[in-house]
Amino acid sequence: RQDEREQFYRVNELAARFYRRVLLEDGAGEAGRRYLERRGVDAATSEAYRLGFAPDRWDGLAHFLQQQRVPLPLAEKLGIVRQREGGGYYDIFRNRLIFTIADPQGRPIGFGGRVLDDSLPKYINSPESPIYHKSEVLFGVDLARQAMRGEGAAIIVEGYFDHLALFQSGVKNVVATCGTALTPGHLKLLQRYAGRFYTLFDSDSAGKKATFRAMELFLGENVPASVIELTAGEDPDSYLRKEGADAFAGRLKGARPIFDYFFRDLVQRSDTGSVAGKVAVIDQLTPFLAKISNPVERDLYVREIARVLGVEERALLRKLGKGPVTAA
Ligand code: ATP
Ligand code: MN
Ligand code: MN
Ligand code: MN
Repeated sequence: RQDEREQFYRVNELAARFYRRVLLEDGAGEAGRRYLERRGVDAATSEAYRLGFAPDRWDGLAHFLQQQRVPLPLAEKLGIVRQREGGGYYDIFRNRLIFTIADPQGRPIGFGGRVLDDSLPKYINSPESPIYHKSEVLFGVDLARQAMRGEGAAIIVEGYFDHLALFQSGVKNVVATCGTALTPGHLKLLQRYAGRFYTLFDSDSAGKKATFRAMELFLGENVPASVIELTAGEDPDSYLRKEGADAFAGRLKGARPIFDYFFRDLVQRSDTGSVAGKVAVIDQLTPFLAKISNPVERDLYVREIARVLGVEERALLRKLGKGPVTAA
């Protein structure tokens, strides 16, 4: 078993080197090099992330692995090649910029590949494999470990380029979910390094949804988390590009506790002038409010909600099932 795992790491290591070499030296990597330049990725960052390029052909990697005497069925289990109907193997990642996904120790466990134009799908990622479990892997943990420990906090972003842009601008306590929901497994991993968290998801409806889902997790686990908000329509990468690192530092400073963010957002998009509107807001808030296990914090929110909506604290507390039960 252990032996097989080592084999898997070795195969991915070879693949990572292949993609890297194509990006750096090969004529076939020219498009990738130009793409990175266009997106402002410098050589040091490219090196730190071990960025690569998958050539625009069917058997670049497959051919290379064969030369290296790698049993291709092993590479197939890693999701980097697939068997052809008529025999032989072909590459899964073709004509894509390659992100190497590493475990906390820096061992390559999977890959993500981006197209260079706007064809679809924009990204493909390695499938689940014996060494790659999506629900437990966060992109960039290996690079962020030290900074997360130093800060005692971790910033969670969605995308590869968000991670890269922050890292390059000097914000290094960052990990990326790569578009999947934040899981209890992710959180457990992060808690090895940090005790406080920031969500920094794209400022669009998908990002908002991801923020609220993460909130359920954080509140349920009683883990402090705040939301870093960006200008509407931006993601961390595009924001940094437009507004710069100082503006981002301001956003970070202005991060709000995740429940507070949820509450304000809900009030803002609801009709709180009417009784029905207030009831609806309270109905949506209570399940989350009930999850706040710190009684002081919960109490402060109860007060704030009561004030903003113009309802009695007592009524809110009763709805929470925590207040004094008055005789009917
Ligand atoms: P870019 O800046 O390169 O255009 P992005 O990171 O802003 O990409 P998003 O659409 O915001 O792209 O997606 C966030 C992350 O989700 C991506 O970085 C990638 O990890 C993952 N992702 C996006 N689209 C797909 C897809 N079609 N299949 C698998 N994963 C995807
Ligand atoms: Mn997004
Ligand atoms: Mn994005
Ligand atoms: Mn982006």
